[in-house]
Amino acid sequence: METDLYKHKGMRRGLVQHLRQKGIRDERVLAAIDAVPRHFFFDKAFVEQAYQDKAFPIGEGQTISQPYTVAFQTELLRLRPTDKVLEIGTGSGYQCCVLLQITPNVYTIEYNKPLYEKARRFFARYGLKPNTFHGDGSEGLPMHAPYDKIIVTAGAPVVPRSLLKQLNVGGILVIPVGDESTQKMLRITRTTETEFEQESFDDFKFVPLLGREGWDAGA
Ligand code: SAM
Repeated sequence: METDLYKHKGMRRGLVQHLRQKGIRDERVLAAIDAVPRHFFFDKAFVEQAYQDKAFPIGEGQTISQPYTVAFQTELLRLRPTDKVLEIGTGSGYQCCVLLQITPNVYTIEYNKPLYEKARRFFARYGLKPNTFHGDGSEGLPMHAPYDKIIVTAGAPVVPRSLLKQLNVGGILVIPVGDESTQKMLRITRTTETEFEQESFDDFKFVPLLGREGWDAGA
């Protein structure tokens, strides 16, 4: 079990301050970032890097997202403590831990088996209880739908129709969409049974969302 020392808390406070300066305003999101020890997701040799505002390799060619990206996506979700949330791309489990600080009702799905298993072990070690799944999240997680919020943490070529179908009316999907080099962050709100409203934000760079409604894994 890792320890969360005074020096780590200090570095985290610095990170939160930095995120405020970059424009993150949702106090629930900032408190969540302040509460989750990001260095728990890093090897001991890289602890200093945990509180820099950077993405970092987690193995299997994947990354733990940059803290600003995690904060920005979580803020766009307008998360409430009663929300049922689906995260696509568990990765290290960090974003999931941030979500769990705000609502206990989190479903998370990961395509890569070794990462899925590693994240499950992490959650068990710290007594965390998200609902974890292994599979192709580009199709959502229909067996537990609908969701109030869906967050996609990998870059999609188009908005997967399955995800739109799995949103409650009033629900929000946050997803980066674009080509392999850069993606626009989109927030899509289901305003009625048949209507959706789309807002477009800054450009980001994510690893690809693979699968049936994502990029071809062999491409
Ligand atoms: N949220 C993660 C975290 O906090 O560490 C970062 C995720 S990483 C940027 C993107 C993740 O999406 C990778 O772990 C990748 O394996 C996963 N992924 C890619 N395509 C997927 C799919 N179709 N379904 C589920 N996960 C997928």
